[in-house]
Amino acid sequence: MRYDLAIIGGGLAGTATAYYAARAGARVILLERRDLNLGASGSNAGSIHAQIPFDPFRNLGADWARRYAEVLPLFIKSIDLWAGLEKELGGELGFVGKGGLMVAGSKAELEMLQEKSAIERAQGLRIDIWSAQDLSEQAPFLTKGFPGGAFCPIEGKADPFRVAPLFASRAIEAGTALRRNAPVTAIDRENGGFVITAGGTPVHAARVVNAAGAQAAEVAAMLGVSVPIEAHAIQVSVTEKRPPLLPWLLYFTSEKLTLKQAAEGGFLIGGGWPARMRGGPVVDHRSTLRNLALAQRLVPALADVQIVRSWAAMVNGTPDWRPVLGEVPQVPGFFLNLFPWMGFTAGPVVSKAIAALSLGMTPDVDLAPFSL
Ligand SMILES: Cc1cc2nc3c(=O)[nH]c(=O)nc-3n(C[C@H](O)[C@H](O)[C@H](O)COP(=O)(O)OP(=O)(O)OC[C@H]3O[C@@H](n4cnc5c(N)ncnc54)[C@H](O)[C@@H]3O)c2cc1C
Repeated sequence: MRYDLAIIGGGLAGTATAYYAARAGARVILLERRDLNLGASGSNAGSIHAQIPFDPFRNLGADWARRYAEVLPLFIKSIDLWAGLEKELGGELGFVGKGGLMVAGSKAELEMLQEKSAIERAQGLRIDIWSAQDLSEQAPFLTKGFPGGAFCPIEGKADPFRVAPLFASRAIEAGTALRRNAPVTAIDRENGGFVITAGGTPVHAARVVNAAGAQAAEVAAMLGVSVPIEAHAIQVSVTEKRPPLLPWLLYFTSEKLTLKQAAEGGFLIGGGWPARMRGGPVVDHRSTLRNLALAQRLVPALADVQIVRSWAAMVNGTPDWRPVLGEVPQVPGFFLNLFPWMGFTAGPVVSKAIAALSLGMTPDVDLAPFSL
């Protein structure tokens, strides 16, 4: 059996690529070294982002932000796709797109948000700058005294436990072969295609998609390709359930924070705080304490809420935060689906585009700016 497409990695990127490619009629095989959704896609904080993150904006500057902003149209289109995914895939994904508010910790940071919002608007993203009065009228759950914030109406949340498994189910229904516990250990070229060693068994495919997340650099190296993907251990916490309080995704400019309330009532508290490596990623309680203190500084009602679980996972990063997408110029037929840091948000649109490209079709979005 020679497949049209072999996809390496059973996270959101791999399962969504498999779904879109199989739906387009391709013979697809999905190769996963462990089981589906055990990587970043099933361990993330579930935030649907569109704003340029504040931390790198402060550290890397406005020139970086203007270059990074080329990804915003991908976020906007992916959120459009997210909004219709429950219907398309026929299952609940917990998607809610009511907005995200980046709260400024100081007047200087509010000015930086204003500068950042001009860059975001230039890419077609709607950002409303809110005053202190707007905050007290619209967001009464916040601590009083913050000078303002940036509100993006399309941001939100979705459920990381559900998305990749649902894409996988629909991909399998459309004919995708799934091989779990099949770590890819070698990829070689043969007869204009590839032979992939997965779990010790050869798999023959005309084209290959690398969707191996934080391990993507190791997979690319099997074909002598160097990609700037790094693996970072980061962590998230979730609290006990409480009645609805937070309608939006919240961020804070002074230190790294994302905060939102799941449909079931628990508060998810993250923002990319570092975890520790001990064999694998493990929670670093120093990060947890600082992360929780920040959440409480923003929303005082969290003071008596109990944490029920904190966890750590590896995220795929790139030094400049930009994704690496599309066919590798020096290895025709080898495609990269590597969206760092915010790949949960971008996964659907990017994977749809990679599926199209790898089948020789024209994608809905232009990935050329993100070529290796
Ligand atoms: C704690 C945390 C919080 C995050 N929060 C958010 C958020 O709120 N919003 C957001 O947009 N993004 C967030 N992210 C980032 C997002 O989760 C990732 O960018 C995205 O899930 C990457 O998806 P992926 O499918 O590329 O990678 P993964 O989900 O990691 O999947 C890669 C898969 O490849 C498999 N694999 C690796 N090597 C091999 C091999 N050799 N052979 C076979 N299979 C292999 C792995 O086992 C894994 O299953 C967060 C990430 C983390 C870790």
